[in-house]
Amino acid sequence: MQFILASNNEKKLKELRAILIEMGHEVRSQREAGLEFVAEETGRTFSENARIKARAVVEATGLAAIADDSGIVVEALGGAPGVDSAVYGGDLCETDGDRVRFLLANMEQEDDRRAAFVSVIVCMLPDGTLIEAEGRLEGELLREPRGAGGFGYDPIFFVPEVGFSFAEMDQSVKNRLSHRGRALEKFREMWEKTYADK
Ligand code: IMP
Repeated sequence: MQFILASNNEKKLKELRAILIEMGHEVRSQREAGLEFVAEETGRTFSENARIKARAVVEATGLAAIADDSGIVVEALGGAPGVDSAVYGGDLCETDGDRVRFLLANMEQEDDRRAAFVSVIVCMLPDGTLIEAEGRLEGELLREPRGAGGFGYDPIFFVPEVGFSFAEMDQSVKNRLSHRGRALEKFREMWEKTYADK
């Protein structure tokens, strides 16, 4: 199937693309499809925001779209930054590095380091059919960044069963383990069971 990926985040697109191509799909980013807009993420859940992004692309192109809405949820912060992960710290933070430092500062006195990455994948077909899958990976927040790969909060997200931060892992290892990889794997199962002949 051919999908338009409803995102302008290059690093996220790279991960989504690698996994979806491996599943046998053809993918183009919304920019490659000639769309310049960024859908406003006004939802308060990952699911709402993923639906908003996918719907905007389907309405603009008439083609099938896949969107991911994701973020890091930190136990000691009551689930923050969560859906606000991309804009955490507001005007105080311009870059991913600023947001990492802001989160570390807010967690400085905290011993409970439990955190999880969550991804909700929404696939919307031109006839309005919606397929939604959630993936989650539990981990721990480090006290300082480790590793040079990945993006966003990768350098401070430690995965105990592998003994590395996301930013220290090969991309293929991260893709296999990650919240996004898990959500896409669920999506693949749902797709193959029900929609593969569409
Ligand atoms: P959104 O889904 O476009 O709202 O952005 C999600 C934000 O969550 C990103 O900008 C990152 O800050 C963070 N995020 C989501 N997935 C990952 C990941 O795999 N690694 C690191 N940060 C991530």
